[in-house]
Amino acid sequence: MLVDSYDRVVDYIRISVTERCNFRCQYCMPEKPFSWVPKENLLTFEELFEFVKIAVDEGVKKIRITGGEPLLREDLDKFIKMIYDYKNDIDLAMTTNAFLLKGTAQKLTDAGLKRINVSIDTLKPNVAQEIAGKDVLANVLAGVDEALKVGLKVKVNMVPMQGVNSDEILDVLEYCKKRGMSIRFIEYMENSFAKEEIKGLKSKELLEVISSRYTFEDEGFDGSSPSHYYVMDDGYKFGIIEPYEDDFCKKCNRIRLTAEGNLIPCLYFDEAMSIAHFVKNGDIKNAALVLKEVVKNKPEKNRWGGEDHETSSRAFYETGG
Ligand code: SAM
Repeated sequence: MLVDSYDRVVDYIRISVTERCNFRCQYCMPEKPFSWVPKENLLTFEELFEFVKIAVDEGVKKIRITGGEPLLREDLDKFIKMIYDYKNDIDLAMTTNAFLLKGTAQKLTDAGLKRINVSIDTLKPNVAQEIAGKDVLANVLAGVDEALKVGLKVKVNMVPMQGVNSDEILDVLEYCKKRGMSIRFIEYMENSFAKEEIKGLKSKELLEVISSRYTFEDEGFDGSSPSHYYVMDDGYKFGIIEPYEDDFCKKCNRIRLTAEGNLIPCLYFDEAMSIAHFVKNGDIKNAALVLKEVVKNKPEKNRWGGEDHETSSRAFYETGG
């Protein structure tokens, strides 16, 4: 079992399979980075799988594939199948913008994928274009429909931003509720790559908007999920992710692996250790030692909240959000 210095059990790994993305979201990657990681520096799926086996043998129970945009990486279904065949009760999920999902959802499900989180920040084509830098909405919504059709469980993530999509909080919530998909509103997390003028909505403001149409009860947190949940009278649950609050880190059970093989203990912090050399050389023992070291060094909390509130210098498209 992997346990950090604050007695938190780490049993969840998020693997970013590429930092590249086909969207240029204002809050994440508004401009194409100066240079991408060269393709030859990316770990192959076989190398990533070597690490997955170590992590699973150490007690990891949940793996989320993310990016950049994970569907840009060819043969992703084969990687998913490798993991599924190794341990078919792993909670295997993916976070995607769904742009390429219509043509891939069936293949991914057949390979063993169970659940996806899709980013939907708006239901207006022109606003989607403004946020993502291109005309994306029709493909995204078609991707979501296909995912539901092939039986994937779908959760939606929305980042509400003042003056951009803050007037659509109830519309996106309704869209999800009608389709039986849960929604999590993510408070915008400041980072030095995002557009400077973005102002995100905080949970208090979000709750005010939602209470203008619905009544709901505060359900608190569910296990290690970073989401603060609320349940409506008819049982529909929605969540808010509040990284500026202390509770966000208390039950954190996750670490992150980048496509280049950097193992990151916290979404906020720059500290990382590489497993690339070890997995490339089949040195399982040392890769496992790095994993344990990273877990041991996991910081108690991020620095978005509190009095010494800071902006993160880490790119979300690199860590996978
Ligand atoms: N391309 C995929 C997608 O769009 O979902 C996966 C990668 S994306 C980095 C993962 C998640 O991070 C998305 O839900 C996105 O909304 C969230 N995210 C990215 N930048 C963020 C920020 N500055 N604040 C809050 N959430 C952010």
